[in-house]
Amino acid sequence: MTKKWDIVIIGGGLSGFVAANYLAKTGFSILLLERGNKVGGRARTDEMKQQYFNLGPHALYKKGVAKPILEELGVNLSGKSPKVAGTLLENNIEYAAPFSPLGLLTTSLLNCKERIEWVKVLMKVMTINKEKLVQHTFEQWVKQTTHSKKVQSLLFLLGRLSTYCHAPEVVSAKVMLSHLQLVAGGVLYLDNGWQTMIDQLHNKAVMTGVQVQPQTTVKQIIKVDDYFKVLLSNGEEILGKYVLNTTGPDELYKMLPKMSSISQNGFTAVKGATLDVALTKLPNPQVLFALGLTDPLYYSVHSNAARLSQDNKSTILHVFRYYHPEDEIDGNSIKIELEQFLERLQPGWQNYVITSRFIPQITVNQRLPKLGDEQTLHRSKTGIPGLYIAGDWVSPDYILSEGAISSGKQAAEAIIQEAMR
Ligand SMILES: Cc1cc2nc3c(=O)[nH]c(=O)nc-3n(C[C@H](O)[C@H](O)[C@H](O)COP(=O)(O)OP(=O)(O)OC[C@H]3O[C@@H](n4cnc5c(N)ncnc54)[C@H](O)[C@@H]3O)c2cc1C
Repeated sequence: MTKKWDIVIIGGGLSGFVAANYLAKTGFSILLLERGNKVGGRARTDEMKQQYFNLGPHALYKKGVAKPILEELGVNLSGKSPKVAGTLLENNIEYAAPFSPLGLLTTSLLNCKERIEWVKVLMKVMTINKEKLVQHTFEQWVKQTTHSKKVQSLLFLLGRLSTYCHAPEVVSAKVMLSHLQLVAGGVLYLDNGWQTMIDQLHNKAVMTGVQVQPQTTVKQIIKVDDYFKVLLSNGEEILGKYVLNTTGPDELYKMLPKMSSISQNGFTAVKGATLDVALTKLPNPQVLFALGLTDPLYYSVHSNAARLSQDNKSTILHVFRYYHPEDEIDGNSIKIELEQFLERLQPGWQNYVITSRFIPQITVNQRLPKLGDEQTLHRSKTGIPGLYIAGDWVSPDYILSEGAISSGKQAAEAIIQEAMR
């Protein structure tokens, strides 16, 4: 006879495991299904030649909603904050980034008037009431806030850095400013990579009785009376009283062909390209963090703050290209662009490579937080009793791990409430 589970969770990323940990405390029987052969989703860390590579640059917000949830679940977060000082590049000219008092005083990017304007704008960013921005795109807010082109490009750059979103003309000012405020509270680069969060959540879940099944792809979810049939790609069938789906919206839509009010949601994913590099040494050890001022490029040496190799001697850095949703992506030229950006900052880096990895296109967040998404999100709350969703696209207010982790907790609480009724 097919076993009937109280809860079937689809997806073994941050949101799935956070939910599993909250649900496991209640004594439900829980099965977590993961398509990959390893758990972690996009919070996975891959070990290559004894070097730990996150899937591109990953930083945890120190003042966000995710950290307290992880701590509540007993996850130990070891790591350090990178320094805010760094370099901005524009037309091959380097400027000190005006993100620290020293950078602000020394940068040749801004004249005296622009410096004062920048400080005023930063204070506004920190104190603004975000609820008043629900009708604004980020671009509208930036242009209303300052007429200085330089200060505008600094705001666009900080927006990209905080959210990975590179479409200021459509993204919600409210979401962008929330995340800008979070970044201002500092970030953590985690020792041994983000896999440490996943491993701890995974172990705790398993210890409390959650059954985790990797290499299992869900094809369809069918509601039958008061339970769900979860059909797998290998033809097997699993029964669950409640289902929590933590995949992206496209995958969810495919699983629910006829039964739901969810329409092909119209969400756009936030994407980018990443070049992850391990070096025996840095040719230019002074340069640890740099951004393109208008070119959507990022560089940061993560091993300067976190232990990211077995012997803790090598240098792990990430170079990243933010994509606009309408970018036509040619992987080869993007790779050259990232390598040249790195060459500009670390001349001769190729001589010190232990290992590297280039991913031309990766989904950073399953939903670009566009202005007006709230209504679409509301419609996508499946409306099917017993079927819940979580993930980095589900929350109207948070994206990235903030959205994944907070929605995982919320979905678990909603299931518990429903089950106790
Ligand atoms: C390059 C990059 C940089 C990032 N940087 C940051 C950062 O600095 N700060 C930050 O907060 N966040 C960052 N993020 C985002 C963060 O990694 C994600 O938001 C978070 O990991 C998403 O977790 P999730 O559980 O919602 O989704 P996922 O991790 O995608 O988990 C969903 C899981 O579902 C599985 N699945 C999908 N379909 C099926 C199916 N049919 N059957 C079974 N299983 C299925 C997938 O394999 C996956 O494991 C970054 C992401 C990337 C890619």
